[in-house]
Amino acid sequence: MYDYLIVGAGLFGATFAYEAKKRGKKCLVIDKRDHIGGNVFTEEVDGIQVHKYGAHIFHTNNKRIWDYINQFAEFNRYTNSPIANYQGEIYNLPFNMNTFNKLWGVTSPEEAKQKIRQQREAAHITKPSNLEEQAISLVGTDIYQKLIKGYTEKQWGRSARELPAFIIKRLPVRFTYDNNYFNDRFQGIPIGGYTQIFEKLLDGIDVKLNTDFFKERNQLENCADKIVFTGMIDQFYDYQFGVLNYRSLRFETEILNEIDNFQGNAVVNYTDNKTAFTRIIEHKHFEFGKQRHTIITKEYPIEWRQGLEPYYPINDDENNEIYKLYQNLADQEANVIFGGRLANYKYYDMHQVIGEALATVERELEN
Ligand code: FAD
Ligand code: UDP
Repeated sequence: MYDYLIVGAGLFGATFAYEAKKRGKKCLVIDKRDHIGGNVFTEEVDGIQVHKYGAHIFHTNNKRIWDYINQFAEFNRYTNSPIANYQGEIYNLPFNMNTFNKLWGVTSPEEAKQKIRQQREAAHITKPSNLEEQAISLVGTDIYQKLIKGYTEKQWGRSARELPAFIIKRLPVRFTYDNNYFNDRFQGIPIGGYTQIFEKLLDGIDVKLNTDFFKERNQLENCADKIVFTGMIDQFYDYQFGVLNYRSLRFETEILNEIDNFQGNAVVNYTDNKTAFTRIIEHKHFEFGKQRHTIITKEYPIEWRQGLEPYYPINDDENNEIYKLYQNLADQEANVIFGGRLANYKYYDMHQVIGEALATVERELEN
C-alpha cells in the first residue's frame, strides 16, 4: 500500500514524489514509457547528450526554483540564442536590434520603433485578438511574414489568425543588441544532461516503467490512498466532454560522423512554410562539445491523434472551453491531484512545472 500513486515520471511527477518522500510519504511512480524524465529526458549517444524530445533549456526568474534544480545537477553557462533561417537568409532571435538591422538596415532603436509603428498603423491593428494581429502589432508585417507566419502555421497546423495571442508573447522583443532568447535571470543546461536530475529525484522511490495507468486502472487505483495524475485529463475522464487537441512532433535524428560542426548553433529555426521541419537542433552545442562528430535532430510538427505523444496543448477558445469542463470534475476530486502540462492543459515551461509541483506538495502536506 502506498500513500500516493504518481502517474508520470516527468518533471511534475518526479518533483512531487521527491518532496512527498522527504515528508515521510510512500510513493509509487509509474510511467508508460521505458524511461524516467518525461519530455525532459536526455540520453548519451556517442558521448553527446541528446535531448530526445526536443531542445530543453532551463530558465527561470525565480531564485528559489533555480536553487532547487541546482541541487540535482551543475548547470553550465549556455544562453539560448537561436538563429532563424528564412530561405537562406539568417536572422537573430529573439526579435532585437540585430534582427531589425539585418532586415531594414536601421541602426538606432528609434528608427526600428518607427518602422514597426508604421507597419502596425498600415495594418490598422488597435486591439490584437489573435496571434497574427499580436505579432504584427509587436514587430510589424515584415518580421511577421518572414520569421513568424511560416513557423507558426507549421508548428500549430492552423492559421495564425486562429491561434491565441499569448503564444507569441513568449518571445521577447528588444530594442537592444541582445540575442538572449529569454529575459530570465537564470539560465543553463545541466552538465551531463537532464536524466541525472530524475535519477536523484526518484532515488529510493518505487518506479514502474512500461506501465500505462489506463491498462491497469482498477488495480493501480487500489494500491494507494491518493493519485497524482500527470497524463491527459480528457483521457482520465474517458473523453466524456470530447477530445482535447494537442500538437505532436516527429523527431528525425542523424549521427554525422564526418562533420564536427553542422550549423554553428544549438538551435536553428526554419521559418519559411516550404521546409517541413520547424527547427534543427545540434545537441553538442548545448554543452560546448568538442567531439569530432555531431548529432542533429529535425523537428517535424504533426497533428496529434490517439497513440501519438501529445507534446503541446492547443489553448484556443474551443479547447479551453472543453478543458474547463474537465477541470470542474477535477476540482471535485478528493483523492486525485492533477498536475503538469497534460493534466492542467497548459503550455508550461520546466520552471513553471517545478513551481506548481512544489506549491501542490505544500498545499497537500503542510496544512
Ligand atoms: P511530461 O514531461 O509530459 O511527463 C508526463 C509523463 O507522464 C510522461 O513521461 C508520460 O509518458 C507519462 N504518462 C502520461 N500518461 C500516462 C499514463 N496513462 N500512464 C503512465 N504514464 C503516463 N520547457 C522549458 O523550460 N525549456 C525548454 O526549452 C523547453 N523546450 C521544450 C521543447 C519541446 C519540444 C517540448 C514538447 C516541451 C518543451 N518544454 C520546455 C516544456 C517541458 O517539456 C515541460 O514543461 C515538462 O516536460 C512538463 O513536465 P510534466 O511532468 O508536466 O509532463
Ligand atoms: N515563433 C515564431 N518564429 C520563431 C520562433 C517562434 O513564429 O522563429 C513563434 C511560434 O508561434 C512558436 C512561438 O513563437 O510556437 C513560441 O516559441 P517558442 O520558441 O517558445 O516555442 P517552443 O520552444 O515552446 O516550441
